This record gives sequence, structure tokens and C-alpha cells, in this order.
Amino acid sequence: QEDKFKSVISHAKEYGYVFQSSEIYDGLSAVYDYAQNGVELKKNIREYWWKAMVQMNENIVGLDSAIFMHPTTWKASGHVDAFSDPLIDNKDSKKRYRADVLIEDYVGKLDTKIEKEVKKAAKRFGDSFDKAQFLETNPRVLGYKEKGNAILKRMGQSLEKEDLADVKALIEELAIACPLSGSKNWTDVKQFNLMFGTKLGASAESAMDLYLRPETAQGIFVNFLNVQKTGRMKIPFGIAQTGKAFRNEIVARQFIFRMREFEQMEMQFFIKPGTQQEWYKHWKDARLKWHLSLGMGEDNYRFHDHEKLAHYADAAADIEFRFPFGFKELEGIHSRTDFDLKAHEKHSGKKLQFFDHEENKSYVPYVLETSIGLDRMFLAVFSNSLQEEELENGTTRTVLKLPSVLAPTKAAILPLVKKDGLPEVARKIVEDLKWDFAVSYDEKDAVGRRYRRQDANGTPFCITVDHDTLEDNSVTIRHRDTMEQKRVPISELKSIIEEEVSM
Ligand code: ATP
Repeated sequence: QEDKFKSVISHAKEYGYVFQSSEIYDGLSAVYDYAQNGVELKKNIREYWWKAMVQMNENIVGLDSAIFMHPTTWKASGHVDAFSDPLIDNKDSKKRYRADVLIEDYVGKLDTKIEKEVKKAAKRFGDSFDKAQFLETNPRVLGYKEKGNAILKRMGQSLEKEDLADVKALIEELAIACPLSGSKNWTDVKQFNLMFGTKLGASAESAMDLYLRPETAQGIFVNFLNVQKTGRMKIPFGIAQTGKAFRNEIVARQFIFRMREFEQMEMQFFIKPGTQQEWYKHWKDARLKWHLSLGMGEDNYRFHDHEKLAHYADAAADIEFRFPFGFKELEGIHSRTDFDLKAHEKHSGKKLQFFDHEENKSYVPYVLETSIGLDRMFLAVFSNSLQEEELENGTTRTVLKLPSVLAPTKAAILPLVKKDGLPEVARKIVEDLKWDFAVSYDEKDAVGRRYRRQDANGTPFCITVDHDTLEDNSVTIRHRDTMEQKRVPISELKSIIEEEVSM
């Protein structure tokens, strides 16, 4: 699995999808740039989301609010006081860790240790070896595992102040169980705010402290009434937006899974209080359907329903995806009650209410939220699509089986040879198709190598122009996934491609 993840990262670089930011200066950790193909894939995912959320729903409209917001926003949202990660420093190595990630690491190491012990014992005892029984005789290691998992589970929800001492004690125990040099000397666990601060204004005295937004949602909440009034929206209705968010993640690892600058796609759905159960269910279903519509395999998704809820929520679930490093959160669906709008009412002194003509009264709507990381979705799509295939002739091919609607390039047009007028015909096909699709022209190397290059690039169709084309205006169209080749008239190319790639 680790190898798979490494090959995902190197393939993303080699084929112009994702680069480390500021690479010539040795990079900036947990910040990435999307290259020529990556930017197209990312744009296509964003559009696929936007179409499903905004275009297809009469009662959902879009918004593009600013990254900078009035600082009081973050008091009202709770981010100033509570948006933090539990951190612990190792006094010997002077290294800082996110406590939950550290525990997860240790638990993983213990797992490996247990596996090794099991293998050794199995060898020693031969046929008479009973694994289950053996594990029961190692209560110490099992005990750590159990405790570790229990705390991890609690952390998955939200960590309370009284848990912090527990966490420290557990880390100390685990560090001893997994011998690591110099890991006995730990500080207390502290919580650090994750927002990036900056300043607005020229002079030091008059400057105002600002934060880079850590989520896009607050831009929607503060515009709730503006949109409702000017769009003459009736409850229930939604506001959707995509945009950058920033978090000073302490342990930012796993490539674009956890970044310091990332993009979110969020939708807040404003509803009548009391109807939240039904809308929660509706949006859980709708969002899972959206994922499944990409055809990346039902088995790769699961819901994780939160048992312990944040103080503002009355229901919350994650859609988890099977990443190369296991099932992890991809999207969150939260029933947030009237927490956000009420908090903004309180801090701004402005009423944020909806007048319900049917009921003849005003109320603060409840909110149902769907929130997905665009970069995380990118990683899900990219890692799931990258495959090494054994072919019948014993060779292997690397193929990026991106859902065709998302592929950066829909078709590559290839003249079989660089002479006899074939490049001109191929260019002419490019000129015709580029009005409707992202297409590319490729004439370098033997055609077999070009096929492989396009496979690895994720291009669903290769269209080859050969000498027969000059006679009968037909071309060979080859499909990336099946490698099947068909002879078709040039005039049919558009409809063939359209059928497969239209959103
Ligand atoms: P996590 O538990 O992974 O830190 P979260 O619960 O803090 O995520 P939310 O605040 O609910 O995440 O954000 C909604 C979505 O935004 C997440 O489901 C995820 O897809 C994405 N997201 C959050 N933080 C990051 C990040 N640092 N890098 C990339 N995507 C992120």
C-alpha cells in the first residue's frame, strides 16, 4: 500500500498533475501546485460538483465570497476559541507532533510488531500454532492497542480539555512499548490554533488583525440574508461555493490529503427548524449518489456516523473513501441547527431571519451542510484510477483510468507517420474537435508508445490517422480501458466522444 501511494505521488509529478510548491527552493511543506494536467482535472471535478449542486437544483444558488472576512466572523464561528489541534513536543528530539497522528502511528507500529511476533511464533510452533490464543497471551500489547483505538475514536469526534492528560499518558506508554530512541520525555499536550493570521492596513497602529479563512462556509452564513432577499429565495434553499481555505495544519502529511492551502466545495442548505432529520437523510443519500455516479466502485465508500457530536450539531456523518493509506474522510455532512446564524446575529446585532409567509412568522433557519475538499477528491480520483495492468502478452501497462467526464484530455489525435499528408489530416481533426473537447495532437515516437503515453496520462480516446484515412475519411479510435480499436468515419467522432465524456 505504501508503494502504491509512492507511485501515485511520482506519477502525479511525472505526468504534470501535481508539483511540490516552490520546488526549486526545496519546496514548501504541505503546499502543492497543480500543473498542466492537474489544473484540468481539478477544474473538471469542480464543474462536476457545481453542475450537480447548483445547475441541477433550482433552489440552490452559487456564491464567491472573499477569503478575507471581518475578524469578528471567527469569534462568532468559534474558530478563535476552539479551532485547534492537540500537540505534544518531544523534549529530547525537539520534535513536535499532532497527538492524534502520533498515537495513530504508534498503534500502526504496534500492529506491525504483533504481526512479526505472530509470524515468529507460527514458525516455532508449526502446525500446533493457534494465532487467536497467542494474541490472548500478549495482553500488554493488546491493551495498548485497545486504549489507543479508544482515544483515536474520541479524537475523531472532538477532543475535550479533560482528555489531554489521558492522551499524554497514553503516548508515554505507547512510546515505551514501541522503542524509539529518545522518546520518553514529553511535554503536556497543548492545543494550538490552526488559523493563519495576517494584517490589513499600512501602519502598525491602525492595522487590523485578520485571518485567512479556514473554511468557506462562513462567507455563506454572513451572506445568507443578502442572497435570500435579492434572489427571492424561499426556504428550503441552498447556497454553494468553492474556494480556497487555509489551515496551519501541524502535521501535514499524505501529499494533497492534508494541505495548508486547499480548496473546499461547500453547500449550506437553509431549512425550517424541525425538518433537519429528513434533509440530513436527503443530503447523505444525494452526496453518496454523486460519488457513485463516477463509477469508482461502491466498495470504496462508506459512511462514518459520528456518535459524539460537536456542540452545534445534532447529526454528522463523513463519507469515507478508500485511499491508498486506508479509509479516510472525504466529505462531511452536518446538521448544524441554527448555531451559525444565531451566533452571527449575536455578534453583529443584525437579524438573520426568514419570514415564512405560510406560517406568517419569522425564524432563524436551521442549516444542513455538505463539505468536501476538492484536493482530497482529486486524490481519491487520481489514486483510484492509477493501475498497473498485466497484458495478455506478458507485459504490463500503466494506465490512469480516470472517469472520462473528468479526464483532462478527452482525445489525442495521432498521425500514424509524420509524412504523406497524415499530420495535416490529423491537425484538421484537432481543429474541428477542439471547439467541443479538450484534445491534443501527438506525433512523436511509434504509435504504440504514444498509446501507452496517453494511457498513463488518462486520455480516454486515441484517434489514429493512417493512409486509408486519405481514401475513405475513416480513422481508428482506440479506447483507453479496453484497448479496443474500431474503424469509424471522421464525421462520427464528435458524437462518439460526446456520449462518453459529457457531464
Ligand atoms: P480532518 O478531520 O481530515 O482534518 P475536518 O473534519 O477538519 O477534516 P472539515 O472541517 O469538516 O474537515 O472540512 C471539510 C472537508 O474539507 C473535509 O472533509 C476534507 O475533505 C477537506 N479538508 C479539511 N482540511 C483539509 C486539509 N488540510 N487539506 C485538504 N483538505 C482538507
